[in-house]
Amino acid sequence: MKFNKTLEDITLYEAGKPIELVVREFGIDPKDVVKLASNENPLGTSPAVANVISEHASKAHLYPDDSMYALKEGLARKFGVSSSEVIIGAGSDQILEFIARSLLSPEDSVLMSRVTFAMYEIYAKQMGATIIRTPSYVHKADEFIEAYNRYKPKIVYLCIPNNPIGDCMTKAEALKVIDAVDKSTLVVVDGAYMEYAAFKDKTCEVTPKDILKYPNAIYLGTFSKAYGLGGMRVGYGIANEALIGQIAKMRPPFNIASLSLAAAIAALSEDEFIAKSLALHGEQLLRYEEFAVLNNISFIPSYTNFITYLFDESLNSTEIADALLKKGVIIRNLASYGLNAIRITIGTAEQNDKFFHYFSEFIASK
Ligand SMILES: *Cc1c(COP(=O)(O)O)cnc(C)c1O
Repeated sequence: MKFNKTLEDITLYEAGKPIELVVREFGIDPKDVVKLASNENPLGTSPAVANVISEHASKAHLYPDDSMYALKEGLARKFGVSSSEVIIGAGSDQILEFIARSLLSPEDSVLMSRVTFAMYEIYAKQMGATIIRTPSYVHKADEFIEAYNRYKPKIVYLCIPNNPIGDCMTKAEALKVIDAVDKSTLVVVDGAYMEYAAFKDKTCEVTPKDILKYPNAIYLGTFSKAYGLGGMRVGYGIANEALIGQIAKMRPPFNIASLSLAAAIAALSEDEFIAKSLALHGEQLLRYEEFAVLNNISFIPSYTNFITYLFDESLNSTEIADALLKKGVIIRNLASYGLNAIRITIGTAEQNDKFFHYFSEFIASK
């Protein structure tokens, strides 16, 4: 069988290792496994949202509302936009897919940071497009503009703040990039961690309304991170009606399950849960910065719910990740991104204690 040529160059997305794998391979009790690898909310699912999910369980025989009226209205109200400017995806991942499929063909190129979210590349490659990267692993407006002028890519991906690095472009820099590109190029502003960036530093906050001023830009958000609903797969895109209308042609019917819709709608009123999550995060992030300083580890100041530690030759990220895994602590090794670095999701105090304990033990053994 001859598969599409575009597949030859695609490497699969490396998902965070599941708890079950550590239980199976190392015989660790599931309750002792700490997963700090996928940027999930360590407070779990908000109890009120979990209740709503159970209440909808008996209606699983019905197809979901394909218009997604209530969720679109809720998001429109939250962001001060119109519901015709909103599209819902099975995770914002699926919207990235709609975007690539509706814009790219093999003669096109796309532009992104040297180290950034892997799915931009994967969806673009599925369409046969060429990947262009800026030289730095953090987002720099000047580098984006220079590469844009040189290669004229069809899509520019701005990950604000950036996964898996944690850096954040300011809103002024982001708008400078959008202002510099022609209207025939789409700028994707991926705000998967925007709640955390806005909590730390308002100058980093880019809102859907800011993006709506541009005919050629789209804002993406997700319920998977701060909202604690990674397992429900709900994300959203916000852009002008004409743009939304085009990418919506790629959307399969009923792409959001009814339980997921109910959960996301309920999550929109969880202001208290979000505030509590952000407060815990802010307090625990400081511990990771202090730990790094005490142990002479370089880190990138984080605007997200994770932190990235960078190592010199004295420590090896693959060895660290393997050693921690054997102790039941799952973190993300960034070796596949070409960095001797690890990414750790900020957990609860107890989860972080465990990380610090085993990582200190590892450092002492060197
Ligand atoms: C997690 C993440 C997403 C999307 O996650 P979904 O679960 O598909 O909504 C998008 N972009 C970045 C940078 C992410 O880290």
